[in-house]
Amino acid sequence: MKQPVVVSTVSDLRKAVSAWKRKGFSVAMVPTMGALHDGHVSLVEKALEAADRCVVSIFVNPKQFAPTEDLDKYPRQLERDLNTLGKAGAHLAYTPGGAEMYPEGFDASIHIGGPSQGLETDFRPQFFAGVATVVAKLFLQATPDYAIFGEKDYQQLCVVKKLCRDLDIPVEIVGAPTVRDAFGLAMSSRNAYLSTAELVVARKLNLIMRETGAELADGANPEIALQQAKDTVVGAGFDRVDYIAAREAGTLGHWRPGLPGRILAAAWLGRTRLIDNLDIPQT
Ligand code: AMP
Repeated sequence: MKQPVVVSTVSDLRKAVSAWKRKGFSVAMVPTMGALHDGHVSLVEKALEAADRCVVSIFVNPKQFAPTEDLDKYPRQLERDLNTLGKAGAHLAYTPGGAEMYPEGFDASIHIGGPSQGLETDFRPQFFAGVATVVAKLFLQATPDYAIFGEKDYQQLCVVKKLCRDLDIPVEIVGAPTVRDAFGLAMSSRNAYLSTAELVVARKLNLIMRETGAELADGANPEIALQQAKDTVVGAGFDRVDYIAAREAGTLGHWRPGLPGRILAAAWLGRTRLIDNLDIPQT
């Protein structure tokens, strides 16, 4: 089975990327936490459209998990991932260990205001500092021209764009549409945690969000429509809703009808937390 070249140190990564740049190749990076699925593959495809060479990082970033979260049980399947990347045509896999990324004494943390406020931060206060810090490090290590991020993690995409803008990081951030299964469920490495019965319930989330988005586009009162959506999600079998919110699509600030909007949700099914988001149709 064809696999990409694998490097695990910053020094080897830099050597490989410098060799490409000497040949005049442009470079696109796809940061991931592994357990790759078709959503990740679509990012690799987009990377290969944007640039001559594609590097995919696989690193389960401890700094974006709270002590109570699923860091230890997060799925890890490197051999399978490397086969997936080989098939997708990625050139290089970067698989740093924890000590390579965060050596003894590491103490930096990047705070991004703006789009990182609210939504995920209300429930995972450590999350975006962890993401911004690791993404900044990955960009400084790999110096890509482009980086591809999924709209699946829409707030994260907005935060990474802001990170590059505020810190003058010369990487063009490209967003890629969410890849879904035949029932509209957004693909996620965490879907592997779902039982068969939970999967049936999970597939209802996108439908409820789509209906709510259509209601908002039709002029429904946002507060009432979003509360109804939360009740419907719980009625459909979810255990708890962290949030279902409508936000302005670019800043993630306040949304009102007429502005480009996004509906974003996070909800619990057993011990699995699912997130999703959709465009609010423009009328
Ligand atoms: P993760 O490995 O979950 O941290 O995700 C790595 C990248 O893949 C992020 O940019 C995600 O937004 C993106 N991604 C995850 N799931 C999907 C999906 N279903 N469709 C498109 N992109 C995705």
